[in-house]
Amino acid sequence: MQMPRELRPGQPPFNPIELSYVTEKIVAKDQKHTQLRKYTHFRVVRFYRGAATAFTVGCNLRCFFCWSPRARDYPEIYGKYYAPKEVVDKLTELCRTYSTTRARLSGGEPTIARKHLVELLKLIDEERRIELFILETNGLLLGYDQSFVKELANACSKLVVRVSIKAGNPREFQRRTGSAEEFYWLPFQAVEHLIREGVRVYVAILIDPRLVTVDERRSLISKLASIDPRLVRELEEETIELFPEARRRLELYGVKL
Ligand code: SF4
Repeated sequence: MQMPRELRPGQPPFNPIELSYVTEKIVAKDQKHTQLRKYTHFRVVRFYRGAATAFTVGCNLRCFFCWSPRARDYPEIYGKYYAPKEVVDKLTELCRTYSTTRARLSGGEPTIARKHLVELLKLIDEERRIELFILETNGLLLGYDQSFVKELANACSKLVVRVSIKAGNPREFQRRTGSAEEFYWLPFQAVEHLIREGVRVYVAILIDPRLVTVDERRSLISKLASIDPRLVRELEEETIELFPEARRRLELYGVKL
């Protein structure tokens, strides 16, 4: 499979699971018994009342409204490899410096490089300075394989997972993310797997009225309600932030907001 870059109109859809493995070969490497993974930077963000955040390289979707840095499209160029222990040490240091007890993985898609993530979560579980750990994901890999979710649940009792759902129907999912539409259901399955394994989970949905119709929003909410009405009560609503990378990707796709 060739690595898809920025999404263009008419581009053939890709298999995001296959893309996960292609990306993993670039953003992760084995060293002795551990798996190193690429990150671009570490800093405290204002979200979650201040969370020490590690920004991962590489994603298995190509959303045309994405505001992540170019490391999403060119993972071979950006970032540096870190062992799980190095990442936890950096997060812990940030927590100490900025007096926070919350840490988070964001940036690209943190579930790419499973072995690295599981080891990192085990270390977070032992780190007393960090009380809450937020994993932000598009849910594709967690929906694809329930054993992955079980492994995460066993690794860390401080874990909260935020699943971001990009569309309310398969057609829009394909158009917005570049993934083939049959993978649309995976984020919903991820939510089901997480609930089944006893992991705290909440959902963020794209509700930007410039892209999402009222009908699509309704259909999305009713799907979530059929899984668990709590998901609807705790729903986070996302709009598109026109940061420079989002503007550039929207322009390349030919969408004007
Ligand atoms: S918005 Fe999230 S899921 Fe979509 S391409 Fe960007 S990082 Fe990946």
